[in-house]
Amino acid sequence: MADTKHCSYCAEEIRAEATRCPYCRSRLAGFEIDGWHRGHDDAKLAGVASAVAHALSLPVGAVRLGFVLLSLVHLVGAMVYGSLWLIVPPRLGEASVLQDMLARGAEWARWLAGGGSGAPPASGSPGDRATSGGVSGLDGSVINGGDGER
Ligand SMILES: [Zn+2]
Repeated sequence: MADTKHCSYCAEEIRAEATRCPYCRSRLAGFEIDGWHRGHDDAKLAGVASAVAHALSLPVGAVRLGFVLLSLVHLVGAMVYGSLWLIVPPRLGEASVLQDMLARGAEWARWLAGGGSGAPPASGSPGDRATSGGVSGLDGSVINGGDGER
């Protein structure tokens, strides 16, 4: 008795834990990780509203409108949008911007923990260090100096 609810689309009685109605196959409440990325076809700006809409099975227009309305209130919507942009991966299964930054930060932390020996992980290393030579375990591209790939 207590373990059932009514589908909000077709009003059939279904299991309370159901995330998809067995009668009309409508998606019910719940977080769909498959939609949690910014690579949807209906993405407009950075695809954040589209990601939220797909993940929560909401109409993308409503989510977008929500961000706009929230932005009118002390730019809350813009801040939420920006934060989500950091968190939502660009494509399904890819690292988000935040994960990317954390990974890069971890590389720097490892470099600093090693006493700064060797070349720093990112390009743009100080020239004197790169040209000092005699650093083991480096490939040529790093020794070339800072004006490489970025
Ligand atoms: Zn239904």
